[in-house]
Amino acid sequence: MAFSNHHEGMHYEGTCIRPPSEANSILLQATVGCSHNKCTFCGTYKEKRFRIKDNDVILSDILYASRYMKHLDRLFIMDGDALIIPYPRLKWILEMVREHLPRVRRVGVYANSKGIRLKSEEELRELRDLGLGIVYFGVETGDDQTLEAIRKGANAQRLLDMGLKVKRAGIQLSVTVLLGIAGAERSLIHAKATGELLSAMDPDYVGALTLMIIPGTPLEDDLAAGRFQLPDNEGMLRELREMIASTGLSRGLFFSNHASNYLPVKVRYPQGKEQALHLIDMALEGKVGLRPEWLRAL
Ligand code: SF4
Repeated sequence: MAFSNHHEGMHYEGTCIRPPSEANSILLQATVGCSHNKCTFCGTYKEKRFRIKDNDVILSDILYASRYMKHLDRLFIMDGDALIIPYPRLKWILEMVREHLPRVRRVGVYANSKGIRLKSEEELRELRDLGLGIVYFGVETGDDQTLEAIRKGANAQRLLDMGLKVKRAGIQLSVTVLLGIAGAERSLIHAKATGELLSAMDPDYVGALTLMIIPGTPLEDDLAAGRFQLPDNEGMLRELREMIASTGLSRGLFFSNHASNYLPVKVRYPQGKEQALHLIDMALEGKVGLRPEWLRAL
C-alpha cells in the first residue's frame, strides 16, 4: 500500500508503505528506507538511503498526531524495518507515543531477522510492555536455496529462531511469504519448506502475497535473461495448495489477498484447512469458477 508525501504536518519522506491491516493507524515514519535493502525482488526503498530520523522530527510528528489524530488507537512505525532502531531510541519513541497518544493500544513495526536478533528477549518484552503489539516479519520462503538466491540475509533456521523469539516476548507475529518467489522449477519445494517453517513458527497471521516483478530490481534482470520463470496461474494455485497443505497452525489466520487469478483466500486454522484444500482442488479440476469470492474458507 503506497502513499505519497502529502500530509501537511507529518514529515513523510518518499514513498512509504504499511501493511493492509494498518490502514486505520497513525503512520509514524521513524526510519527512512530499509537497513538491509538487498532483497532481489524488492524495489520499495531503492531510492532511499537508510537512516533513523532525528528525535526532534519524530517527536514533532507524534505531537502533530496528538493534535489531529488523537482518536486513533493504533500506530504503525515506518519504514522498512523499524525494529532495527536501537533499543534505547525505540523505547523512547514508545514512551513518547504513550505520553502524547494515550489512546493508542497497539504499535506495529516491520522487521527483518537482523532487527529481531539485535534485541534481547528482555528488551522485546520491555517494548511490548510499552505498547509494541505486533511485528510484521518478512520471511518470504522456508527454502534455504531460495533464501540465498533472493539475498534475504538469513536461512530458514534463523528465521524460525527470530519468529519464536518475538512470540516468546508476547508480541503478536504476522509473517509474510511470497508465492512465486522460487520460480516455476522450485515452486513446490518452496511451498512445502515454507509450510514447514510456518508450522514450526506458528504465527498469529500469515500473509501469502503473490510476487510481482518490480522494474529495476535484480529479479527483473533474471527474468529478462531467462534465469527466472514465474509459475503460471495454475502453477501459482498448486503452489498455494501445497503451502496450505504443508502448514499447520494452532489457531492462526492464513490469508492470501492476491493469489493466482487474484483470489482472496482466508483460512482460519486448524478447522478451515480441509475446506480450503477441497475448494482449491475443485478449482484445479475446473469444477468451480475462479471468481474473486469463491474461496472464503473462514
Ligand atoms: S528486508 Fe524487506 S524492505 Fe528490506 S530489502 Fe528485503 S524485502 Fe525490501
